Order: sequence, then C-alpha cells, then structure tokens
Amino acid sequence: MSVRTIGIIGGGQLGRMLAMAAARLDLRTVILEPQPDCPAAQLANAQIVAAYDDPDALAELARLCDIVTYEFENVPVAAAEALAEAVPVFPPPRALEVSQDRLVEKSFIRDCGIRTADFAAVDSQADLEAALDRFGGVGVLKTRRLGYDGKGQRLFRSPAESRDGAFEALGGVPLILESLVPFEREISIIAARDRDGTIACYDPAENVHRNGILHTSTLPARVNEASADQARRAARAILDSLGYVGVIGVEFFVLPDGGLVANEIAPRVHNSGHWTEAACVISQFEQHVRAVAGHPLGDPRRHSDCVMQNLIGDDIDDVPAWLARPDVLVHLYGKAEARPGRKMGHVTQILG
Ligand code: AMP
Repeated sequence: MSVRTIGIIGGGQLGRMLAMAAARLDLRTVILEPQPDCPAAQLANAQIVAAYDDPDALAELARLCDIVTYEFENVPVAAAEALAEAVPVFPPPRALEVSQDRLVEKSFIRDCGIRTADFAAVDSQADLEAALDRFGGVGVLKTRRLGYDGKGQRLFRSPAESRDGAFEALGGVPLILESLVPFEREISIIAARDRDGTIACYDPAENVHRNGILHTSTLPARVNEASADQARRAARAILDSLGYVGVIGVEFFVLPDGGLVANEIAPRVHNSGHWTEAACVISQFEQHVRAVAGHPLGDPRRHSDCVMQNLIGDDIDDVPAWLARPDVLVHLYGKAEARPGRKMGHVTQILG
C-alpha cells in the first residue's frame, strides 16, 4: 500500500518538523491536537482539534490517514491500540507502554541486555527507606509516570540528607529510586528501523542539560569508538526487541571508563537529534517519515561537526544575533508566547 497521508498525534515542534519533512516527500499530514493553531498544524494539511483519546477524533484520523505516528510518548496507550485496529500505527503502541513508566522502561532495557542504574519500585515511605539503605543512602527518586526534563525528581546526594516526607512530597504517586550514576558526560543516539528491519544509526551526540532541560548537543561526542559502538548495539537491541518502525532516541550516561549506562528511551524523534537537519543529508525527521511511510532509510552519516543549542523562553530574543551569523541554521517553532522553560526554537552551528 502506498502511503499518501500520515496522521500525527501531538501538535508540538516535533510534529511540525515531521510535517515539514513529509511535505518534501509530497506526503500529506493530519495533526490530532486539542490546542488550535498548534506549531505542527501551522505546517500540516489539516488539524483535528480534539483530545488524543477522543474516539470520534481517532476514527476520523484513521479515515483520513494511511498510517499514524506520534510525536510525544504520553499518547494514551489505549488510544494508540484502538487506532491500530483500524490503521497501521508506527512506532508500535508497545513502545509507548514501555517508555511511559520508568520502572517498565528500566526493566525492559535491562532485559535487552543493556546496563542501567540499579533501581527499585517505591510505593511508600518505607519502600523509600529500604531502597535508599540498599543504595548506600544516595540515589535519584523519580515519578514513574509523566516525568520529563527533570520534573518530578528528588536527588539524594548524601546519606546524611533527611528523607522525611520525601515519598509524599512527590505527590504520593508510584515512584522509582535509581542508584546515583557517577557519570562523566551524557550522550544520546538517534536510530531508525524500517518495516523490513533495516536499522540506521546516527552518530552519538554529547548532551548538556540546564535546569533539567537539554541545552546543547555537540557532535562529535567525546567518546571512544568502543563506547559509540556500544550505543549503536544497544539501540539495535531495543529496536529489534520492540519490532520497531520509525526513529527512536536512547539516552546514556558515560562512565569514566567509557562504559555506558542507559537512562531512557524516547519512541519518537528527539531534541538531541535536531542537529541532523544541519549536519546530515537525511535528518531524523525525514528518516522517521521514510520509515513509517515504507520508504528505504536514508544515509545517517554526518558530514560536519556541529553544536545544536535550544532557544528556551527569553532566548528567543537572541534570534536576530543568531541570524546575523552565516554559519548557523535557525529553526523557530511558531509559538506565540515565550514562557520560562518553553522550547521556542533551536540553532545549529556548523563547526568547520
Ligand atoms: P531524566 O529525567 O531521567 O532524563 O533525568 C534528568 C537528569 O537527571 C539526567 O539528564 C541526569 O543529569 C540526572 N540523572 C537522572 N538519573 C540519574 C541517575 N540515576 N544518576 C545520576 N544522575 C541522574
């Protein structure tokens, strides 16, 4: 079946960039997003303005589209599964299920033979005390669901720190305690798998976070070939295990000896892959569109070194200065209001 129209659940900047990549391949896009005039809909062919789990809206999306994909990992699993009865959904809904719950995610990654931090489920203050004792009094406490960009987390740096009320302070919801990884740097890898099972991996990016939000991704990452290879092998194992179709992002901590510890997966195009639009012939966005539409994957090779920087909140005021630099690709998301912590755009500077 040849794909003419792609449905995208979610209307943010990632959906917008997918819509742009689809348009270049003469594919149409329909966005399902409750917020009218969202960043993605500004560049898509149509928008269904409705909740992600609205049954009528999902039926309409299935009717209008040949395949459906998504741009964020908190798409309700039941909605994706219901949709998959009517129209192919890529990546598979199982990828959502795995990435929505940090406990399920860490268990899945470990079952793929990939190293993770030690972890324990925490459903009460008593669980927390026991898990902290097991991890030497230090660790990172996180909500299992709906945490992102460092939100819903509490760091225990030293055994002397008070634990009182820590379970309730994160909302009394199911938590996970992870052992503290003594990492030297953070990297991520963007990889794609097509419908035939062919896999293409981009080079790992070195990521710096500020206030829990990605600040820069730099290529090349300061890792040796063995670490880069380990990242590629991990991505392959995850993609194959999920029978995945599309682009995935996998984040790792790099230990002082070069060993990798996987932190999380994102079953979608990823902020730490935005650099690919400037430094590769085929961007992560086109790669995703190719995979889900049933086209051959493009070459993920990087032709230039580069650094991608997010424009967060007031950083949008720096756009004229960035535009004055001829070596910088500026990409803005069409968001009317710049709020603190809000991703407004990004810039990628080519280095040599
Ligand atoms: P996350 O929400 O899992 O992406 O975590 C946000 C940030 O917290 C990461 O980018 C790390 O800088 C830090 N972090 C998360 N988990 C751990 C861990 N187990 N050990 C050390 N640092 C962590």
